[in-house]
Amino acid sequence: MKKRIVILGSGESGVGAAILAQQQDFDVFVSDFGTIKSNYKEELTQHQIAFEENQHTEENILNADIIIKSPGIPDKAPIIKKIKEKNIEIISEIEFASRYSKATIIAITGTNGKTTTTSLTYHILSNAGLDVGLGGNIGTSFARQVANGDKQYFVLELSSFQLDNCVTFRPHIAVLCNITEDHLDRYEYKFENYIRSKFSITKNQTNEDYFIFCQDDETTINYFDFANNAVQKIPFSYFQKVSEGAYVEDKNIIIQLNKTNFIMPISELSVQGIHNSYNSMAAAISAKLVGVRNEKIRESLEDFKSLEHRLEFVATVKGVDFINDSKATNVNSTWYALESMTKPIVLIAGGVDKGNDYTLIKELVNQRVKAIICLGKDNDKLHEAFASEVGYIVDARSMEEAVQLAYNISEKGDAVLLSPCCASFDLFENYEDRGKQFKRNVFNL
Ligand code: ADP
Repeated sequence: MKKRIVILGSGESGVGAAILAQQQDFDVFVSDFGTIKSNYKEELTQHQIAFEENQHTEENILNADIIIKSPGIPDKAPIIKKIKEKNIEIISEIEFASRYSKATIIAITGTNGKTTTTSLTYHILSNAGLDVGLGGNIGTSFARQVANGDKQYFVLELSSFQLDNCVTFRPHIAVLCNITEDHLDRYEYKFENYIRSKFSITKNQTNEDYFIFCQDDETTINYFDFANNAVQKIPFSYFQKVSEGAYVEDKNIIIQLNKTNFIMPISELSVQGIHNSYNSMAAAISAKLVGVRNEKIRESLEDFKSLEHRLEFVATVKGVDFINDSKATNVNSTWYALESMTKPIVLIAGGVDKGNDYTLIKELVNQRVKAIICLGKDNDKLHEAFASEVGYIVDARSMEEAVQLAYNISEKGDAVLLSPCCASFDLFENYEDRGKQFKRNVFNL
């Protein structure tokens, strides 16, 4: 009899997993507690995969041999509790897909910088002519790509939620960008649980594999014993020289690895700011480890096209720069945005606060920000934190109002920076919607 796989959640990863599971001859059922997007419904129908939406029918779920859970579903959801009571194996789409792929995997996690580092790494490998796929939290799901034909390499962006339901998943190269407090609502409000989840990227690695980490990241270093001991560890650092790994000296990135050297001026990197030097170092080490030549790495770090909503330059209007960093949904990412700016800043911040500690950016705000426009339903915390740090702090209820206010306040030579520190769900559909509304309103000025 066929083994039964039930997939909970029918977004890109769920549908990809369903297609792969059917190809591998499982009895497949997809269940989504919300509505399923029409394009995904069509696909499931085309593949003759049974599905339901707006409900979880227990008798069709609790008879599964394996459950593939969408990373968006928390463990405290009632259906997950019931599945656990019945001891049915729960895995992530990443775990499932990895069981059917022979590819060498570069997996990238961290609180901030995942998408940038993953995209940079993929860009270098594909420029070097390698047979490589890009997946995980980004673009086409890993499972769908495996179903479409395996690759020699996969570069995967992984959230902690995706790592949580991995069992045997073993990346050859694991990158941990950094760890700062985020998503604590999913980890019983214990930072340590979240840290453990991030380090679990190394759990199945062996002494043939690599773990690339940020030597300057306090949490990574303080909890370093959470990493698998067996693996080969390679640091990158902006502030300290390391003997094996990557560091910065005289405004150059230097990589020393297996007795070879790589050197490149920071000014030539296509993405700027300390955080992007970190991301570039992590990507370059990964590329070197799979044998890409220095020349190709340099060329790719130079011509990488920066990503939308991440310190994205929008326009200069009457001498004022407008910069869209809508993806900055926590305090740490806004810290790096403020740090990278050279002009006086009018900051647009606010939204859904996931337990922010604003003391982390107080000093930078005091030094560099002349005005704050609070764009959220509840702005009290921002006022409390920054009223005494900036000359001017004011509320806006829509992006149109925020951009107009910023425009009125700013002077030639200033920069208006949207870097919210917060999630966007109170006033926007998501961070993309927030960033796009910002750009539209800037272009309308
Ligand atoms: P993620 O996929 O982890 O959310 P992104 O690359 O999309 O990371 O960047 C998210 C936000 O964090 C952006 O505002 C970006 O400017 C900032 N950022 C990027 N890389 C880093 C880093 N290494 N450290 C801190 N912040 C970063």
